[in-house]
Amino acid sequence: MYYYAVVERYNTFSPDVVKKMPKKELVEEIWRLQGALSEQTEITKFSQQEYERLQNEKILCRVCFEEQISIVLLPCRHHILCSTCSEKCKKCPICRVFIEERLSIYDV
Ligand SMILES: [Zn+2]
Ligand SMILES: [Zn+2]
Repeated sequence: MYYYAVVERYNTFSPDVVKKMPKKELVEEIWRLQGALSEQTEITKFSQQEYERLQNEKILCRVCFEEQISIVLLPCRHHILCSTCSEKCKKCPICRVFIEERLSIYDV
């Protein structure tokens, strides 16, 4: 929503419009636009961090959140554990299925 408002304002910024604008108004408009755009950059930066955080969570072991996921549990095929935690777990923490085998995802 916000983004479109900025883009629309850009569109009103055609050379014709700029020529007709009083200089003072034009300067104010540019300030407003720059303010809006830098806010936009902040939002993008924030979602980038959020994205990276989610990416990290995705690869971190669901039990210790310290080591990377490196094990696939069989037969349920969940990959949520590091090798250390998979050794400690008898059942899959997600579906509670008894773990029959632990496959290293780096071998697959
Ligand atoms: Zn772990
Ligand atoms: Zn499972």
